[in-house]
Amino acid sequence: MSEDGEPPTLHKVWESWAPVGCATSVDAELAGICVALCKALALPGCNAVYLFSNCLPALRLATDCTEYGGQQHSLAIVQTLSGWLPESANHCIYLIHSPSCLKWGPQGEAHELLQACPQVAVGCHARTILTWLCDFADHKALDLWNARFSDEIYRGKHFLPLQDAQDRLLRPTTKKGGLWLPAFAGGYNSHSARMGHTPIGEYYHWFNIPESTQCVCGRFGSQDHILGSCRKFTFHAGYPYYVWDLDGFLFANRRAFSFSALHTQRPRDEEGIG
Ligand SMILES: [Zn+2]
Repeated sequence: MSEDGEPPTLHKVWESWAPVGCATSVDAELAGICVALCKALALPGCNAVYLFSNCLPALRLATDCTEYGGQQHSLAIVQTLSGWLPESANHCIYLIHSPSCLKWGPQGEAHELLQACPQVAVGCHARTILTWLCDFADHKALDLWNARFSDEIYRGKHFLPLQDAQDRLLRPTTKKGGLWLPAFAGGYNSHSARMGHTPIGEYYHWFNIPESTQCVCGRFGSQDHILGSCRKFTFHAGYPYYVWDLDGFLFANRRAFSFSALHTQRPRDEEGIG
């Protein structure tokens, strides 16, 4: 801000764009940060750099020199900074996260510049970033799984379909290195209860295991019976429809789908689910 409280007048010094090949949005932003920073530091009389980006992961990676897909950009940034910063005690740099929703003018202009750029053909020898390949493999795996998931034979008739908060069928994901069924990270036998792979009569019948097929109430111990109508268990939300319905049922009935529900006397059966 100037002394009279007015913001400084901004003027464009330089603009550029370049294709980055097959890359994720974070890779592309990091490449942009690298080019912009190196150019700014090379300008004569540059003492302070304020770098704005709407991509927080790219800002965090800018000085991360560990091994990852965009490491070359981070190495270039750090190498440039290591030469520029010691030159003067007045040299300083600020990396500022500026979300797009703020609709800051100069940021919008940069976005429009890129939107106006011509599309570049990838070609048969495109530069490819490792993170893009991982992302591509994730999408291919999920597309294939989701396509097959609608087939009950592939999915398994014992697999319990549940919905998320938007009434969408809950599907697994490989994103963010997370669990295949991230909504069930809490435990309570959720995975085994949902798939029917659990010490219940139906499972024993299914695999011809010489154990009683009865529920604790005396009826056939099927997954549907235990989740929907057994008088020995507590129900709050009826037959599970949402993911939290199942978690709520298992929280209220911790012995359900466990060895202890069958009145066995083996040690630690409360925890074991087979
Ligand atoms: Zn029962």
